[in-house]
Amino acid sequence: MESLIKKIDSLLREYYGVPKRSEGMQNPLDVLIGTILSQNTNDKNSWRAYRNLKDKYSSWEEVRQLDRKELEEEIKVAGLGKQKSAAILEVLNDLFEKKRTLNLDHTQAMEDSDILDELTSYKGVGVKTASCVLLFSLRRNVCPVDTHVNRIVNRVGLVSSNQPEKTFNYLLGKIPDGLAHSFHSNLILLGREFCKPTNPDCSNCPLLQICEFKEKNTSGDEKKYPHNNFLLLDNL
Ligand code: SF4
Repeated sequence: MESLIKKIDSLLREYYGVPKRSEGMQNPLDVLIGTILSQNTNDKNSWRAYRNLKDKYSSWEEVRQLDRKELEEEIKVAGLGKQKSAAILEVLNDLFEKKRTLNLDHTQAMEDSDILDELTSYKGVGVKTASCVLLFSLRRNVCPVDTHVNRIVNRVGLVSSNQPEKTFNYLLGKIPDGLAHSFHSNLILLGREFCKPTNPDCSNCPLLQICEFKEKNTSGDEKKYPHNNFLLLDNL
C-alpha cells in the first residue's frame, strides 16, 4: 500500500510538480468555512464567495449575526446558496454554543483523531470537511477523500470502496510522512484533467502505466493540457 502511494505520488509530482502551499498555518475556521463554500463548485467561484465574506465582515461573529437569506445573497456566486448559508450558520452557531468563542486554534495541540471527532461533532461538518481542516490548515498528514479522489484511487487499484468516508478511514495512517498534501492536491488536478467520471483520457494520463482500471479509454489523441494549479484551500 505505502509503496503504491509513493509511486502514484512520484508520477504525479513528475507531471504536475510539487503543489505550492502557503507558508505557516492557515486559520482552521477559515479553512472550514472555505471548504463548505467549495462544495460542488469550482475554486474560482468559491474563492469569490469567500472573499465576499472576508472583505465585507471583520469577523466570523459578524457573519454569524446575519440572517440566513442575507448570507445566501453574499455567497450565491458559489452555488447552493441556500444549503451553504444554512450549513455555515449551523456550524458557527454550534461552535459558539459549545465553546463560547468562534475559534478553532485549540485544535493545533490535539491528535488527528481527536480533531476529527471534535470537528465532526459540529452540526453540518462531515469527515471530508474536517479532513480538509486537518490537511490544509493544521498541515497534518491526512488525505481528504471526495468523490473525485475516491474514483481515482479505486480505478488505479489502491482501494476498493465506493464510499469516500470508508476510503478515507482506510488511508488514514497509511500515507507516508509528508506526502498527503501533494498526493491529495495532485489527485484533484488529475481528476479535473484526465480521470473524469466518464470518458477518462487514459491515453495521456500520467498514471497509465500503473493503473488497474479495466475500462481504460485509450482512444484519445495526444493532448497537452494547460495546468490550472490553483487550489482554493491553499490560498485562503
Ligand atoms: S489511466 Fe485512466 S482510469 Fe487510470 S487514473 Fe488515468 S485516467 Fe484514470
